[in-house]
Amino acid sequence: MKILVVEDEQKTLAHVRKGLVENGFIVDVADNGTDGFHFASTGDYDLIMLDVVLPQVDGWTIVGALRASGKPTPVLFLTARDSVPERVKGLELGADDYLVKPFAFSELLARVRSLLRRGPGRSAEAVRVADLEVDLSKQFVTRGGQRIELTAKEFKLLALLARRAGEILPRSLIADQVWDMNFDSDTNVVDVAIRRLRGKIDDPFDSKLIHSVRGRGYVLESR
Ligand code: CA
Repeated sequence: MKILVVEDEQKTLAHVRKGLVENGFIVDVADNGTDGFHFASTGDYDLIMLDVVLPQVDGWTIVGALRASGKPTPVLFLTARDSVPERVKGLELGADDYLVKPFAFSELLARVRSLLRRGPGRSAEAVRVADLEVDLSKQFVTRGGQRIELTAKEFKLLALLARRAGEILPRSLIADQVWDMNFDSDTNVVDVAIRRLRGKIDDPFDSKLIHSVRGRGYVLESR
């Protein structure tokens, strides 16, 4: 797997590069927008990691130009700006995910793996984890080729877990994303919904995909 990292902060760049190489990735780097865009548009990468604020050409311009030219390589934005409009702008221009700086390398690695599993194509039409397939646009779920009927909420919950497969999602995040509410005290709602979802996608099968991580939340992955 080959990754391009475009980042002008040398310390961050060196840190990210080292970590990715240690995890078995082939890494190319660029420390300005011009080189970054050149590598991104001519090279053959599985993933591009792009800082937003770069010398010469910014990350937004790069991702916009890549998408305009039909390049589907997944893009992960690294941004120091944790503001909703800026994140939305990046995603609208064709980024696939973003990470707010400073970040823990373990979080970066989880995002990278999740994007690589998803593969090219920003809409992530379908996510596959082991023999589970979640078609996000048709809201269609199969396991082992067998159709599974879910309610709208169950689908929303499964789609969230599937999009971020391999990442431990805290109950509070699940409550916020699926029910659009804060269940500070009553995350029991999440546990109940997870139990119901497990009944449909895990219980009839030998290998379990939804795992609870004590004190931290839930993760969808094949173990
Ligand atoms: Ca920068």
